[in-house]
Order: sequence, then structure tokens, then C-alpha cells
Amino acid sequence: MNIILLGPPGSGKGTQALRLVQALDMVQLSTGDMLRAARKSGTDIGKTVAAVMDRGDLVTDDIVISLIRERLTGDLPAGGAILDGFPRTLAQADALGALLDGIGMTLDRVIEMKVDDEALVRRVTGRFTCSDCGAVYHDDTHRTQTEGICDVCGGRRFTRRGDDNEESFRIRLLAYYRETAPLIGYYHALGKLRPVNGSADIDGVSAEIREALEEGVSS
Ligand code: ADP
Ligand code: ADP
Ligand code: ZN
Repeated sequence: MNIILLGPPGSGKGTQALRLVQALDMVQLSTGDMLRAARKSGTDIGKTVAAVMDRGDLVTDDIVISLIRERLTGDLPAGGAILDGFPRTLAQADALGALLDGIGMTLDRVIEMKVDDEALVRRVTGRFTCSDCGAVYHDDTHRTQTEGICDVCGGRRFTRRGDDNEESFRIRLLAYYRETAPLIGYYHALGKLRPVNGSADIDGVSAEIREALEEGVSS
């Protein structure tokens, strides 16, 4: 099954993608993670996108489409792909449709993560990640079980994203409403949209997503 996690910054896409990967032999394809990796390794793409990302604007469609094309045309696990943070514009959605058609894959579900704006700002400003494995935590809602030690890999180094400040968040939220929210109607019209209450706790959201993925699927 191939799915999209669609939602504003901080709505829990990365957190839920990780859960699905662990449970269902799926791969997480996060354009945000790919772009951050490109920055870290100092590639040309990384240099091109750095300032745009820090500001909170979207990078160009061509860049993210080529990143996704490369991954979707490579080896994928039997469980399929979770697109996390892609597509974010109508042009990206059209390109994804064409790409999937070209390689004989289908898009099965689009999970819309609904969270109100004030909760989102608290989520991004409290977010931190394990520097070793990328596991995502939060100062209030999802601390590590043992202070200073990653639950997943035992790592002791953590980072905060440069764009997880309120100013950049406001610009990202605006970009979401202007560019990405139209995809809700787009995928609704295609019969693929499944809204979930992203304000529930992490386990509650996972359970709702699993229901949305199972519903209407035979066998
Ligand atoms: P969040 O987890 O807060 O939703 P991401 O990690 O998905 O943020 O993305 C971080 C930044 O990377 C975005 O603000 C944007 O600059 C860039 N980016 C990621 N995915 C895309 C995309 N599909 N299209 C354009 N820009 C993107
Ligand atoms: P996104 O990938 O959509 O930007 P993340 O998965 O990185 O979102 O989550 C943003 C922040 O909110 C992280 O610090 C994460 O630990 C926290 N978080 C995620 N889901 C929930 C939830 N259901 N309730 C409370 N906090 C959450
Ligand atoms: Zn870790």
C-alpha cells in the first residue's frame, strides 16, 4: 500500500510514519529529511535550499520531484511507501500521479492529519530529534523514557531544527494553507482522502490511521 501523510508542520507526520514503518514493512519517504540530509552532506541541492528552508518557504517543485522520483523508482519494501511531506503543491501532486502511473504503482490512501494551529506551534517549538537515528521527541508530550537517552537507539546526542522557531513556523503554516491545503480537495475528489484527528495522543492517532488504512481493503 502506498500512502501520503498530509498535514501542516508539526501535525505528527514523521511520528506516525515511524510507527507505520515499524508495524507494516513500509518505507518512509520524507522530502524534509532528504533535503536536510542534502544540506548536511553539502551537495549542490543542499546549498540551493538552505536559506529557503530556514525561512520556512517551500523549495522548488523540480527539486523535490526529482528526489522522490529517485526513491520511488528504486527498491521498495513489500509494505509500500509512506510519502511524508510530499506532495505539498498541486504541481507536485500531478507529478506524483504521472510518476506512479509510469511505474505501475497506485496511490491507495491520503491521510489528512487535522490539528489546530495553536497546538501546532507548541509542537514545533518543543520538537527535538535524536542525532543518531532521527527519532522525534517533544519537551512536554513525548520525552525520552530515560532523560538524555534515545528510546530507539540509545544515542545521547539530540538536535533541534533551525526552522523550528515561531517565526519560521508562521511562514510554513502560511505556505501550508496557500499551497498544500488545496490538495485536500484534490484527493477528496479522487476518493482517496481519509481525515484523522491528529490532536489525539500519539497512540490514539496511530490507531485511527490504522483503521483508515484497513477500511475498504479486502483480503
Ligand atoms: P515539517 O515536518 O515541519 O512539516 P518538513 O521536514 O516536511 O517540515 O519540511 C521542512 C522544509 O523542507 C519545508 O519548510 C520546506 O522548506 C522543505 N520541504 C520539504 N518538503 C517539501 C516539498 N514537498 N515541497 C517543497 N518544500 C519542501
Ligand atoms: P511533522 O512531521 O508533521 O512536522 P512530527 O511528527 O515531527 O510532525 O511532530 C511534531 C512534534 O509534535 C514532535 O515534537 C512530536 O514529538 C510531537 N507530537 C507528534 N504527535 C503528537 C501527538 N499526537 N500529540 C502530542 N505531540 C505529538
Ligand atoms: Zn536515536
